[in-house]
Amino acid sequence: MEALNHVWNKVTDELKSEINETSLNIFLNSIHPSKIEENILVLEAVNDFCREWVEKRYKFVLQRILQKLSPQLSFRFIIKPQNLRNFKPYQPNLPPLSDPLVTSDSKPDSKNVPNSKPQSASTFSKNESMLNVKYTFDSFIVGKSNQYAHAVCQAICASPGVKYNPVFIYGGVGLGKTHLLQAVGQKTLSMNPRAKIAYLSSEAFTNKFIDSLKDKKTNEFRERFRKNDILLIDDVQFLAGKGSVIEEFFHTFNELFQNKKQIVLSSDSPPKKINNLEERLVSRFEMGIVADVQSPDFEMRAAILKKSASQAAVKIPDEMIMYLAQNVVTNIRELEGAFLRVVAYAGIVQKSIDKDLIDQVLKDFFRDSPPGKITLNWIQKKVSEYFDIPETEMTSKRRAANIVLPRQIAMRLAQILTNASLSQIGASFGGRDHTTVIHSIEKIEKMIKADSEFSEEFEKIKRFVVPHT
Ligand code: ADP
Ligand code: MG
Repeated sequence: MEALNHVWNKVTDELKSEINETSLNIFLNSIHPSKIEENILVLEAVNDFCREWVEKRYKFVLQRILQKLSPQLSFRFIIKPQNLRNFKPYQPNLPPLSDPLVTSDSKPDSKNVPNSKPQSASTFSKNESMLNVKYTFDSFIVGKSNQYAHAVCQAICASPGVKYNPVFIYGGVGLGKTHLLQAVGQKTLSMNPRAKIAYLSSEAFTNKFIDSLKDKKTNEFRERFRKNDILLIDDVQFLAGKGSVIEEFFHTFNELFQNKKQIVLSSDSPPKKINNLEERLVSRFEMGIVADVQSPDFEMRAAILKKSASQAAVKIPDEMIMYLAQNVVTNIRELEGAFLRVVAYAGIVQKSIDKDLIDQVLKDFFRDSPPGKITLNWIQKKVSEYFDIPETEMTSKRRAANIVLPRQIAMRLAQILTNASLSQIGASFGGRDHTTVIHSIEKIEKMIKADSEFSEEFEKIKRFVVPHT
């Protein structure tokens, strides 16, 4: 207990010096230290929303702080709905779980490279998949914009590989593609616990393939992916133009297809519209069913908010649900994010949710429609937001690790996403010279190559910066 308090006090102290008060309050209200067990600090999140919120913003910071305290120490989140006594902002009323749900863990590693699992709430580890228990058909709201994709996905669970193959789901970001793919995995498993299912992003597929080349284990790789009953590959657009990976994917696809195994793919656009995708893959992707998911209409947005509110047992007046649904129109992920911010803020300032409060919290949201052209300022703003550090740190001289890494990531993104020269990039990051920019870019590139989890994280940040690609 003493050790726990000691560690937690240190963490809080460090955080205090790095993040603003509102963020710190949200943090402290979202998770509580539970115990230290075998060098793992177990953090109890109030609910899955809060876990995600904290994990996304603070996992690097937490890792760094813990590593400083003791190199052996790592952390892990659990969600324990029974144990919510100290939490005021939400009074969640989640369905009881028999065991604390292990959602994510992170081990320290010697390279000092961020290393936490991107997927959360993973189950079914005996399968290749990392399925998130949140993403089921039960929690999926069906509306005009997604009913066809939903129906197709439901239909294949009963007899995978038989009815429609492959199934290709496409649509913009945050519209439920990942949710649907994972729901297929979970439903199939619930009907047939022995089904072999692999869910992975195309980036993870790529990274695993590259690792297998490096380790001379391509045969194992092949075996692993070609033995599945269902292969769910998310965001296949990222495979385009990747020569040897495409080749491998093509053979995996063919083998599974010939053996009547189910393939489900997602992408941001229909097969024909994916830039640089080889014709032979385009035609294969079009062989089965191609279904899109579109932006939710007003009714659906309101339905999603209502469901979120009832899941978290948050009281929010109907008019305010409508107000939020009217104003956050982009996609479902943003809608959930907006809801979470409003509720967390209301809890912290102990006020009820009214129009003023929503306006206050969502100032950023409303202003934030993504610009036509990605600017250096925009990148700095979004990367700071992602890591929850003040935007001014992008140009500051501070060398704290939790600042340096985001800054370096932002520089690398600036190089990829804008036409700015290295000197221009340096100038906009607080007057740094171009050698500093080169150093940053190289460092991020190295980390991407060395660590597949970091590489996925980087892609995630990139998508956060450029939401509509
Ligand atoms: P995509 O993969 O298309 O970018 P996701 O599947 O990750 O989008 O969805 C983003 C968020 O919105 C997730 O938290 C997901 O659970 C939620 N979501 C998406 N569609 C629905 C839906 N129809 N009903 C309920 N939640 C949804
Ligand atoms: Mg997705």
